[in-house]
Amino acid sequence: MASAAARREELKAVWQQASACARCPQLASTRTTVVFGSGHADADLMFVGEAPGANEDKQGLPFVGQAGKLLDTLLGEIGLTRSEVFVVNTLKCRPPGNRDPLPGEIDACQDYLFRQLELIEPRVVCTLGNFATKLLRADPATGITRLHGREEIRRIGPRTVRLYPLYHPAAALYTPSMLDILRADFQRIPELLAPPMPEQPGPEEAERVVPEPELVAEELVEPDPEPAPEPHPAQL
Ligand code: URA
Repeated sequence: MASAAARREELKAVWQQASACARCPQLASTRTTVVFGSGHADADLMFVGEAPGANEDKQGLPFVGQAGKLLDTLLGEIGLTRSEVFVVNTLKCRPPGNRDPLPGEIDACQDYLFRQLELIEPRVVCTLGNFATKLLRADPATGITRLHGREEIRRIGPRTVRLYPLYHPAAALYTPSMLDILRADFQRIPELLAPPMPEQPGPEEAERVVPEPELVAEELVEPDPEPAPEPHPAQL
């Protein structure tokens, strides 16, 4: 297993590569910055949101608008700060007008997310909202309304993590009942962080191909049987 320092160096190299990314011609021409992610490069806890919004695009950092403030508050309530966790998005570039990520964009961008997961080695991965949840669970048919607050051990690429789907903070900002649920789900994060790292696949097993995320992204446009309320566009 690589040292934390070696993984951090490799993460920086992936960041460099992503900074010049032109895989999505529209996003590459409309973005201000590539929002790679921020936080502790060896964090036990990682959050995966949807895509940068206007504030994030300007500042080059994830979750710096109203949804980010809520994320900070919820983290504070469980005794954590941003600098102790790592926060990323499913898409690293802002979709113009804060439209939803397109399946082809998720396909094109997902390598960066999978490399981040591999190099940061989190124990617990919280997906925020439908896009990250469907991608990392490789199940486009099951939405966040059914899954939030239910942890599961999942193989993601070469790693095994505790995956913990949560409502997206931007959605919770405008729906008080959802905020109550998000807050209650957040309260369980320390309990999920307490057990040791889930057992990791051995070297041979790690090389075995796991469900194709590409297939998932193709289907992400299918209507969610239980859609979560749309985040307010201004917050994405
Ligand atoms: N919403 C997201 O999903 N990501 C951000 O960075 C900000 C808002």
